[in-house]
Amino acid sequence: MASEFSLAIYPWVFVSQWTGTTWDDRYEEKPHSTPEQEAALTDAEREALFLERNRFADLPLVNYTTQYGMGCFEGLKAFPQPDGSLKLFRPMDNGVRMARSMAGLHMPAFPVEGFVDAVRGVVTRNQEIGFAPVYDPGWEADDFASGASMYVRPFSYSEGGIGVNLSRFPYFIIVTTRVGSYFAPGDSSPTSTTRRVRATPGGTGWIKCNSNYVTSALAKMEAEERGFIECVFLDAVERRYIEEGSSCNLFSVLDDETLVTPELGDTVLPGITRTTVMELAREWGLAVEERPLAIEEVMDRGVEFFGTGTAAGVTYFSSVTHGDVEKTFGDGRMGPITQRLLRTLKGIQYGAIEDTYGWMVPCTSPVATAA
Ligand SMILES: *Cc1c(COP(=O)(O)O)cnc(C)c1O
Repeated sequence: MASEFSLAIYPWVFVSQWTGTTWDDRYEEKPHSTPEQEAALTDAEREALFLERNRFADLPLVNYTTQYGMGCFEGLKAFPQPDGSLKLFRPMDNGVRMARSMAGLHMPAFPVEGFVDAVRGVVTRNQEIGFAPVYDPGWEADDFASGASMYVRPFSYSEGGIGVNLSRFPYFIIVTTRVGSYFAPGDSSPTSTTRRVRATPGGTGWIKCNSNYVTSALAKMEAEERGFIECVFLDAVERRYIEEGSSCNLFSVLDDETLVTPELGDTVLPGITRTTVMELAREWGLAVEERPLAIEEVMDRGVEFFGTGTAAGVTYFSSVTHGDVEKTFGDGRMGPITQRLLRTLKGIQYGAIEDTYGWMVPCTSPVATAA
């Protein structure tokens, strides 16, 4: 297996399990040397080390998560700041959503306060041993498009079991890894609707659960094979209203400068970046609407089209193809509202723009963040 495919999990992880009465928490330090020493290893040696770090020997392999996809997860980032600290973006919101997802899968929910503490605990421990991206002033030149951050992945994992069942004694685990930009920067970023259905009324589309990602991954791969960078899911019933991308919420700026995004319901994932974008746009005086958004409306009246998510940030889309009709937004480059949202969001996250919203939560020791 080529080494570029290995997952480089940072050494410190958090593992907890619901015992029936309490969450049994622990931090675990996986095998590692210094980042410099690890960089100097041969590919084979590094591969072996990364595999070792991705091994959780005391967790059951055969369980409701591995057999039936009974699990949920979160994704958030710790951003390197100019003063050397790391800050999390709206981690409480992820904690609330994780608890809602776990409850939505009828498993005991990991408490929100414990969630933020555990995320900070893992990030801080990794930073203390040198495993964390460091702020680079060079990122300012492209408005942090090239910026790196620490990706935090909390997830549930069931107890052992083989019959179809709900998890009653779930684990709650947090791992972290370095990330750069998600969509490869390019001159254009065309999208296409997919005939696949991501979520159905009464289904689990509103839960950030593992099982939703099977169809998402298939549709995204099929879109990529046709030269698109992202797929656009339409509603399951009328096959007409825009819902989401493969793992991002969607917005369109219409010809009267209204910003429209599909309303939440049981088929749309309540993205934290989605909320953030709406809050910023409303503050700027833009009309923001959450409502059914037909693909025809976007093709007739859309002047900008973009996706939002922790991984994607704000990603502009140059066009959408539906059936055999292609609609290009503006001149096919990033529109002004998308650009302003992207710059503002990244600027706040990387500490270049003052956070007047209370979104950024210090992660490192108080001394380091006092500067
Ligand atoms: C995670 C996710 C998003 C984006 O949510 P953020 O909180 O902004 O990261 C959007 N759609 C789906 C299906 C998701 O799983």
